[in-house]
Amino acid sequence: MAELSPMMQQYLEIKNQHKDEILFYRIGDFYEMFFDDAVTASRELDLTLTGKQCGLAERAPMCGVPFHSYEGYVARLIAKGYKVAICEQVEDPAKAKGLVKRDIIRVVTPGTVIESSMLQDDRNNYIASLYLKGKKAGLCFADVSTGTAHITELTADKIAPAVITELCRYHPSEVLLNPGLLDCREVTAYIKKNMNCSVELVEDERYAPGLVASALEEQFGRDWPQTTGIAAEGLVRFAMAALLEYLHDTQIKGVERLKTVITYNEAQFMRLSPVTRANLELTETLRGREKRGTLLWVLDKTSTAMGKRMLRSWIEQPLISSPLINHRLNAVEALVRQTMVRGDLTEELHYIADLERLMTRTVYGSATPKEIYTLAQTCDRLPGLRKQAEGCSCPELSELAASIDPLEDIKARIYAAVDPDAPSTLKDGGVIAKGYHAEVDELRSIRDNTKGVLAQLEARLRQETGIPKLKIGYNHVFGYFIEVSNSYKNLVPETYIRKQTLTSGERYITQELKELESKILGAHERLISLERRLFDELLESIGAQLDRIQRTANAIAQLDVLAALAQVAAENNYCRPMVDDSDVLTITEGRHPVVEQVLKGSMFVPNDTTLNCTTDRCLIITGPNMAGKSTYMRQNALIALMAQIGSFVPAASCHVGVVDAIFTRIGASDDLAAGQSTFMVEMTEVAEILKNATAKSLVVLDEIGRGTSTFDGMSIARAVVEHIADPAKGLGCKTLFATHYHELTELEGTVEGVKNYNIAVKKRGEDITFLRRIVRGPADDSYGIEVAKLAGLPGSVTRRAHEVLRTLEASAPKNKVEQMDFDALQEYNSPAVPSEMMEKLETVDVETLTPIEALNFLYELKKTL
Ligand code: ADP
Repeated sequence: MAELSPMMQQYLEIKNQHKDEILFYRIGDFYEMFFDDAVTASRELDLTLTGKQCGLAERAPMCGVPFHSYEGYVARLIAKGYKVAICEQVEDPAKAKGLVKRDIIRVVTPGTVIESSMLQDDRNNYIASLYLKGKKAGLCFADVSTGTAHITELTADKIAPAVITELCRYHPSEVLLNPGLLDCREVTAYIKKNMNCSVELVEDERYAPGLVASALEEQFGRDWPQTTGIAAEGLVRFAMAALLEYLHDTQIKGVERLKTVITYNEAQFMRLSPVTRANLELTETLRGREKRGTLLWVLDKTSTAMGKRMLRSWIEQPLISSPLINHRLNAVEALVRQTMVRGDLTEELHYIADLERLMTRTVYGSATPKEIYTLAQTCDRLPGLRKQAEGCSCPELSELAASIDPLEDIKARIYAAVDPDAPSTLKDGGVIAKGYHAEVDELRSIRDNTKGVLAQLEARLRQETGIPKLKIGYNHVFGYFIEVSNSYKNLVPETYIRKQTLTSGERYITQELKELESKILGAHERLISLERRLFDELLESIGAQLDRIQRTANAIAQLDVLAALAQVAAENNYCRPMVDDSDVLTITEGRHPVVEQVLKGSMFVPNDTTLNCTTDRCLIITGPNMAGKSTYMRQNALIALMAQIGSFVPAASCHVGVVDAIFTRIGASDDLAAGQSTFMVEMTEVAEILKNATAKSLVVLDEIGRGTSTFDGMSIARAVVEHIADPAKGLGCKTLFATHYHELTELEGTVEGVKNYNIAVKKRGEDITFLRRIVRGPADDSYGIEVAKLAGLPGSVTRRAHEVLRTLEASAPKNKVEQMDFDALQEYNSPAVPSEMMEKLETVDVETLTPIEALNFLYELKKTL
């Protein structure tokens, strides 16, 4: 260490405290990285690796990035899973004696970024803090960039799936865990395998009750249980406290922005397992993980970033309270009807900046002058927005309008303080508006007009003293001076201080001239620092109004989502669903919201649905491959889900009794890569459904039992249908079941509530046409060869297949449909001829047997085996 240069010593001292992060070390106009960090960063960021003399024999590996464009580089490192510690010069290098002081000002991690360049506008960026103890967990999901945290307490016999379900709801980019979670391998393995996020283990000492209480008190005040809703005795307090501590460690400042704490209860929302979210392609497609082709893609007609994020969270969390759903639907309906208002509202919304994230940067002190100016421009739009929302004469929208604060005072303050052409950085000044602060104006006029100011002063002094040839001059030794020729010496006022005698005259300075000099020489520097101070004060005063702005932002986001839903409904001819607490799902002329969009031009064939918990509980859907079974089933699930987020639905009419959960088992999610067989995955998913569904759930099963032999598969499929459809045996919930096992169609009439449907096809010779219509009754054939022909299998092969099929059918006619005789199975289960043992058992009178007789009876029974 001693041999190292002083700067390298300072570097290593700081680096030692930030071993896990890449250290961006500020030197002048660059952030430099050294040693291993330099090697890593040069590789990851394609930077040239150079070296720096560091006092040792070998130069230290080094690479750097310009400080004004560091964000992009940090963003790339974060995206690759690194963390970055930013080390700044914390004193003015010009004034520093010796080595400039440096300090870490922030550690940037995936879950704590606030820069717009590192965030996606249309989605929240969550950091999760999980605290697990036995069968309970306290969970906290915070978006630092919007200052909002969602918290919930969980209790479950199997806690891991419950925690995983919540993780899938929020998709955090960073997770903090307590050591207790390490024992819960299921959760850690899930995070590692399925979630692209960084994980931080928080040590047990950090959860000491004293620390927890003081962290919460510092953030939310003494009465935190009341103000935040965090249970004083629950587990969330541990999760929240660990999160706050982590933020203090990494963010250094601005942690107070995390203010809004929303307690949620998983029972408030429709339950959607991770598999179901993926299968229904709510926000990303199964293949490709893109937005295009998802429900979000269809519904996203929002105009603001805040609206985009809110729409995503509505889709991810459909409601289950029919009054709340109807509250949203009322607002959407009003906006569907009032086309003009909707248009005007949308027009206004386009001008609204991302207030939530802007406020975060304001509180953190990192908002730029340009951004703050856009805040004022956004405020310009607020009265218009209010007026449009009120104009609908819809109570739900008026309520939102009332939550929009016009923020007149904030707007006025910004317009007064910030120059309309303010740049996006503070480094060159030009931020503060003319006329806002006298000293700024003066410094600027001095800077811009040094010659003029001096000439003015010279003229005034000539007049004051009556010395016509008084001159103001400058040299490096004295700076500015006043020169008077010998002939006028006697007129020089006493206040002038003589500095130098020349042969021709004298040179003086005055107090005023010295002040002017320091103003001129320091004008630029002073101006920049004064502007910075004034701007910081402005940020602080805006930051103090956080609550009002946050409330307004929230109301705007809701308006935006409601207007978007109305727009989609109007454009695509959706209808308002009737939503109540009944048990029906009745749809006339329903369409698949996404397939309909993709097929634009060619027609989507609408279909009806009748489902309820009594007569039409389980629809068994048969039909050839490609007929449209999956599409139909998913469309029903999506219509129910859309209704429950408060959206209109693609149908002519629709009645939705609120469902508490949607479960899907669909082939595509087979997890072969993880080394599980298709059959195992399928059965695990079915097991989860049977365990978690209730009579109020909607279950969609697409082909189950295919991963094993026909008889096994069919038996499992039948047992599952019986369990789900028959309330006496199990659940009795609404179910859509697509299958290739035609044998299952026998269940209609056997199990109450089971109804057969098929998707019609028209056959002409060896060609078939898909009609896409769902009709009552079982399919009459599987048309496998015809579909294969459509798929492009060569004619010679399909003709040969027909020949083979005909031979097979001729030799074993029963094989075609009745591969398994369920009636025979039933007989096997309850044999018609009673056995000897049964007879004996039925006749014996247990009440009158003595113990010895009972023992003898048992011997006798055993003999009959
Ligand atoms: P299956 O599950 O029976 O194999 P899919 O549901 O995957 O069939 O549908 C196959 C294709 O048929 C879909 O990709 C879609 O383009 C089209 N399709 C399905 N239903 C309809 C419909 N109602 N109207 C028009 N096209 C449809």
